[in-house]
Amino acid sequence: MHVDPLNSELVRRNSELESEVEALKKEVALLRKSFMSMDDNYKDRFYRINENVNDVVYHFSLKNRKFEYISPQVRNLFGYSQEDFYNNPNLVKTIIHPDCLNDYLLQRKKYLSGIVPECIEFKIVKSNGDVRWVLQKNLAIKDDDGSITSLEGVVTDITDRKAAEEALIESEAQKKAILNNLPHLAWLKNCDGIYLSVNNTFSSRFKNKIDKIVGKTDFDIYNHDDARRYRDEDMHVILNKKKLYIEEKADDLFWETFKAPIFNNTGEVIGVTGIALEISARKKTEEEIKEYSEKLAVQNVKLKLVNDELTVAKERAEEADRLKSAFLANMSHEIRTPMNAILGFATLLRDRKLPEQKQVEFINFINANCRQLLHIISDIIDISKIEANQITIFKKEFNLNKALEYLVQNSKREIRSLKKQIEVSLKNKWADHESQIITDKVRLEQILSNLLSNSVKFTEKGTIEIGYSLNDLAKEIIFYVKDTGIGITPKEQNIIFERFRQVSCEYNKQYGGTGLGLSISKGLTDMLMGKIWVESEIDKGSTFYLSIPYKKGVKLKKDKIPYSETYRWDNKTILIVEDEKTNYTFLSNIIQPTKAHVIWADDGAEAVQYCAENKEIDLVLMDLKMPNMNGIEATKRIRKQNSSLPIIAQTAFAMPTDEANCLEAGCDDFLAKPLRVDDILNKINEYLKEEKKISDHNSKVISDNSI
Ligand code: ADP
Repeated sequence: MHVDPLNSELVRRNSELESEVEALKKEVALLRKSFMSMDDNYKDRFYRINENVNDVVYHFSLKNRKFEYISPQVRNLFGYSQEDFYNNPNLVKTIIHPDCLNDYLLQRKKYLSGIVPECIEFKIVKSNGDVRWVLQKNLAIKDDDGSITSLEGVVTDITDRKAAEEALIESEAQKKAILNNLPHLAWLKNCDGIYLSVNNTFSSRFKNKIDKIVGKTDFDIYNHDDARRYRDEDMHVILNKKKLYIEEKADDLFWETFKAPIFNNTGEVIGVTGIALEISARKKTEEEIKEYSEKLAVQNVKLKLVNDELTVAKERAEEADRLKSAFLANMSHEIRTPMNAILGFATLLRDRKLPEQKQVEFINFINANCRQLLHIISDIIDISKIEANQITIFKKEFNLNKALEYLVQNSKREIRSLKKQIEVSLKNKWADHESQIITDKVRLEQILSNLLSNSVKFTEKGTIEIGYSLNDLAKEIIFYVKDTGIGITPKEQNIIFERFRQVSCEYNKQYGGTGLGLSISKGLTDMLMGKIWVESEIDKGSTFYLSIPYKKGVKLKKDKIPYSETYRWDNKTILIVEDEKTNYTFLSNIIQPTKAHVIWADDGAEAVQYCAENKEIDLVLMDLKMPNMNGIEATKRIRKQNSSLPIIAQTAFAMPTDEANCLEAGCDDFLAKPLRVDDILNKINEYLKEEKKISDHNSKVISDNSI
């Protein structure tokens, strides 16, 4: 038989290997035997090492069903001694907490059938009743057949760790509860934008759109633009490693979002966390508050304006109050001064027998002071009427030159009586036939006369000039009164037209006056639709201007002889209608030197009768307030009989409305009481053909300014 050398070599090699395996098996068996029969010394050393660790080390023989070894720490861990375990191998079962026993036995059973590696956590009850958590790690010792012969292991007390774990679980649960109950959306994304976790609020917001948010990105749940924006925000947080606060609008809702990076232990950003709150309602409220604030700001500005106005008004009121008090004090002084003179001289006249010349002098003093008083009373009435808007303007045609000449005459008289060195002149006047104008003559005269008498008052010597010119463009006539007096500072020029204003108390004391004149002039100017202003320089003089609308008159009344102091009316008959005997006596005494024939009727009815019976009556001086028949009614009746008979009303009803009533009833003219001798004579003379002027002997006793 042929034997293949290669095959025989293999057989040989095989038998060699088999012998080697046998030898190794024997060696292993020997080693195991020697390990199993490890001498007591070695075991002692092993056990001593164990005794120095905290854990319990044990060796349990399944074959003998007893502990071969258990380390002394059992006393600490279980409260039982080593001997307790050596003597009672079943002690373990009684130590295991009843809650965990079943689980423990099940695990062990599995382990023994070789399924689960033994590592069990369970509770034990110590000998003193304390409950502890332990971890048992077992190592199965197997024999050559692979069957488990014994168990070796370590039992560790894990009570502290368990407590920490439970605390952690609890705190995690709390955090989850907090996050889930937040009205905010809360989430956690990784750096790729994939949702790792979201709270309930987040998931319920999208529950109709997407089943599970975790694992998705914003592009799966939002429209593309919003998702893009969110991704950009996340990248900003990741790259800058900084928190981000954003207020934005998405799906027509306003959101407030906080985003923050999540760091790992090495400080690397591993994701982004965020919370977002829908703030549409808050936004709306904010908008409303903003709108409200803006309105409030506007209101505040308005309020401030009102406040400022009120402050100004208050200051004005205080100033007015102060001025009023000063005015009253001054007024009291202004009234008492002439009163003092009137009473004083009247007493002297009554109590003493004085020579005629002295009497005349005293009577003239009384007259002058009465006029001063009358002036004050007129001013007070005028200012009250201006304030109560009760001034009525009566426009009529008159000759401006004559009116101004009359004012100049009065001024001259005043200057003479004050013994001042002042020249008064009327300048720039137009030709008489051109100087017919239509306006309220009485009020114009009142203003100009006030300006003139101020000029006289505030000028010691020099000149006073009155004049007028036409501003054709503005269709207005501009009057001026220019003096070379003390002048007015620019500051004071602004206030002198206000009520009760006088430049200073000093002047006031030196010059007297109520401070009403210019404010009355201003009030009257306003009523005439005009303007009044002043230009002045201290110590050089002042020029007051008055502009009023210019309305040219048409008819030039027949030239009457200008104002004169004495007249002769021989062959003229004048009917004085007057119920007061004193007044009749006064009038008849004035007329008597003119040689006119005077008839007296003491009421309206008698006047009507006399006029009907005496055709020679040339003029009637008609009082208004009388018993039986008043002057208005009487005038109307006389007019019916005689349309050309001049009737001049003379009355204490001195209001412009009274003048208008008289003219309406048929009077030709009007004289207000108290009557001035010159005024009466001049007025009568306007209607009677003057016979012949006589020397002024007929007005000697009563001075030219007498009332
Ligand atoms: P009154 O003259 O009674 O004091 P007015 O109202 O007429 O009151 O005048 C107010 C003030 O204006 C006067 O007190 C005076 O200080 C000043 N004033 C008026 N006219 C003149 C003037 N022609 N020259 C200087 N001061 C004047």
